[in-house]
Amino acid sequence: MITINEHYNKLQASYLFSDIAKRVTRYQDENPDQTIIKLGIGDVTKPLPSACIAAFHKAVEEMASAEGFRGYGPEQGYEFLREAIAEHDFRARGAEIANDEIFVSDGAKCDTGNFQELFSPATVIAIPDPVYPVYLDTNVMAGRTGTFSDGRYKGVVYLESTRENNFVPALPTQPVDLIYLCFPNNPTGSTISKEELKTWVDYARQNKALILFDAAYEAFIKDESLPKTIYEIEGAKEVAVEFRSFSKSGGFTGTRCAYTVVPKDCMAYKGDGTRQELHGLWNRRHCTKFDGVSYPVQRAAEALYSREGKQQSEQLVDYYMKNAELIRTAMSELGFSCVGGDNSPYIWIEGKMDSWKFFDLLLDEAGVVCTPGAGFGKCGEGYIRLSAFNSFENVSLAMERIKDSLA
Ligand SMILES: *Cc1c(COP(=O)(O)O)cnc(C)c1O
Repeated sequence: MITINEHYNKLQASYLFSDIAKRVTRYQDENPDQTIIKLGIGDVTKPLPSACIAAFHKAVEEMASAEGFRGYGPEQGYEFLREAIAEHDFRARGAEIANDEIFVSDGAKCDTGNFQELFSPATVIAIPDPVYPVYLDTNVMAGRTGTFSDGRYKGVVYLESTRENNFVPALPTQPVDLIYLCFPNNPTGSTISKEELKTWVDYARQNKALILFDAAYEAFIKDESLPKTIYEIEGAKEVAVEFRSFSKSGGFTGTRCAYTVVPKDCMAYKGDGTRQELHGLWNRRHCTKFDGVSYPVQRAAEALYSREGKQQSEQLVDYYMKNAELIRTAMSELGFSCVGGDNSPYIWIEGKMDSWKFFDLLLDEAGVVCTPGAGFGKCGEGYIRLSAFNSFENVSLAMERIKDSLA
């Protein structure tokens, strides 16, 4: 008899995006002349930088000739890309990361979801609330949680991000082994200071824990005092793995390229307490289950590190950040308390009402779609997320409409 992995049945069906779609369709049917502006999405809208497109085309042409053709590449990524990443994203910032500590992949979603495979089923996980759902759901699938009741899985340590702690969770009061952190944060847009991040690194060192640090929004950091990588923090190499993606910084959501940093100093423990390098384990996992990102895509990603590529991705980020500033200013002027939008493309807005009520208000009164915070966890109740990923014209119009209807 073929029996299923019953842990899958503990997963909560996510009705978030289908519920949003239903409400939007109903509104459109009732208001056929109204154009709806979508500020709910977590996907970029602008095309790939021209430097990427040129490199992409060139690589495709190479594949058309016998001399230039490439079959399977190295699973971990071509040396040209690993070198560019390690040099520009880390060594240039004083973080000593070697080329072979970079693992190129087809997405930070897959990597943040897959990394937990390296750890024992008994691992105690600490998960932010609100959260990007991948961290939690992949641990549910792996059987590291109990059942779901009252908005929470049993056995999970939730790291609450609230107004009281400025959306940076406090250290757990009970022992945890695997800690997920994401800064700049999705969905709250909050950031973490070097001092705050150091307390997490120190905690992990003292408790033989590991931090999985999702830095997918690193490119949106404008404040020079904020850490761009966890490896700017002393001692982090022994206790932290970092995930990065070209999705938001280079417009690669549909092109697919990301990477994971696993320093060779980074350790976990065997049952008898002896240390084991995670680098070798992740290398084994990656090579067994993954066969590399396509050559043209890696060339396109490499182009983001050229002079033009850097300029163009900065322009891309600046474009969205102008939208973010507009949203934050407009919503603040209306008296809503906002976080994010200054070093991140998301603005987390307290509505002083139920998340879905706030959602309906913006849709019914202004034809603007947001994401209800409650969809990201218990602590998201009472909030909505607005995204800067849209055109400046649409964002401006959305803010005008919200002002006209709510002021
Ligand atoms: C968008 C996003 C990613 C990037 O995912 P990809 O699979 O690389 O597109 C990772 N983490 C968070 C929190 C995100 O919002």
